[in-house]
Amino acid sequence: MKSKKRGLSYLLTPDFMFDTYRDVTPEFLLSHGITALLIDIDNTLAPYEQAEPDQKIREWFSSLEENGIKASLISNNHPPRVELFNKTLGLPAYPDSGKPGSKAILAAMAEMGSTVENTAGLGDQLLTDTLAVHRLGMLSLIVPPIKDKTTPFFKFKRLLEKPFIGRYKKLHKNG
Ligand SMILES: [Mg+2]
Repeated sequence: MKSKKRGLSYLLTPDFMFDTYRDVTPEFLLSHGITALLIDIDNTLAPYEQAEPDQKIREWFSSLEENGIKASLISNNHPPRVELFNKTLGLPAYPDSGKPGSKAILAAMAEMGSTVENTAGLGDQLLTDTLAVHRLGMLSLIVPPIKDKTTPFFKFKRLLEKPFIGRYKKLHKNG
């Protein structure tokens, strides 16, 4: 496991940003050596109020599976939400995951049989999703939240993310 001490800007800056989870294709993942994906649910795959995966989500998971890419759900939401969402997907699923903590992520990786070299995280929040995987030195893929909460706490979190989104854009300016 990588234990190099890394700066805050590394920890909170995603490696790749996409418009939607559907743009994270098997081709993209495989070209980066990724064969296992740790996936956030809320605002990454579906808004909070969508209890079950729609056709597009199921097709996307099928395309991962057909290409030999393992997937697990890593959510800070509670078991009823995660279990219902996962009912038709049947993936390794970790509710109350405690991101940015590593415990659930390491358990999911053990379940998928993956390593820090071939695993990436996909989410919508830098302070939880990016931090969680960068602490372990893994690739962080980020999408903008599908439908953001508008509470002051969430607005504050988005404000904290801003400089790191800016850093990402600067790093990726030339494609
Ligand atoms: Mg989320």
